[in-house]
Amino acid sequence: MRKIIIAGNWKMNKDASETEQFCRELGRYLQDHDPEGVLPLIAPVFPYLAQAQNILRNLPVAVAAQDVSSHAEGAYTGEVSAAQLRSLGLRHCIIGHSERRQYHGETDALIRAKLLRLRENGIRPIVCLGETLEQREQGLTEQVILRQLEGCFEQVDMPSGEEAVIAYEPVWAIGTGKTASAGQAQEVHALIRAWLQKRHGRETAQNIHILYGGSVKPSNLRELLRQEDIDGGLIGGASLQNEAFHAMIGIAAEASKGN
Ligand code: PEP
Repeated sequence: MRKIIIAGNWKMNKDASETEQFCRELGRYLQDHDPEGVLPLIAPVFPYLAQAQNILRNLPVAVAAQDVSSHAEGAYTGEVSAAQLRSLGLRHCIIGHSERRQYHGETDALIRAKLLRLRENGIRPIVCLGETLEQREQGLTEQVILRQLEGCFEQVDMPSGEEAVIAYEPVWAIGTGKTASAGQAQEVHALIRAWLQKRHGRETAQNIHILYGGSVKPSNLRELLRQEDIDGGLIGGASLQNEAFHAMIGIAAEASKGN
């Protein structure tokens, strides 16, 4: 059975002391509450990844980066390589977030190049995709999602489904307070899983995690997790407060027991 992933994407929030405080509180919570059936994950900004890793070492939580360079190493000012992330012990990295696509012009081809760099270094990419409001209103959701899947995973080998996580994040639901209904989200998740089955076989399709992202919070997480193909959340705003983040880990732990 797939574990539920509760992933906090902190974006460009929290300084060093706020990161430390959050991680210490999260560490205390995890010492008291075994998140059985759940993988909690946080993605702070690059400068504090090592600090978060050190505080959360040996606890059942993963620390992830929010992005990575598509280059291996060398003269790429401001970039951070997959090997450098790996040398910190990281095992997860978000790529292709809609904010990177929108503000930094990232294409599916670039996201695929990043995915391959991460794979070379044993880091599991969390690949984000999703349609804009305009595309949804024009009835193009399915077409957009399939195009992004084909572009990001072109000729990418995925024999087990452990090689990547996919996050479906409708752009119109990110940071807007508008969540896709559980039914709308499930529809796209089922489309993604069907595509995976067609391209990569049943085992891969069954094992891979497909997260939903877009204004997830404690009050709507339970309903989303009831959907057959929703395996967790990629969460921005509501992951920044310990209380809400811990509550979502607790809701996921209950959901994983079928409660
Ligand atoms: C995100 O950053 O990926 C996200 C979904 O943000 P929010 O939860 O704030 O909508």
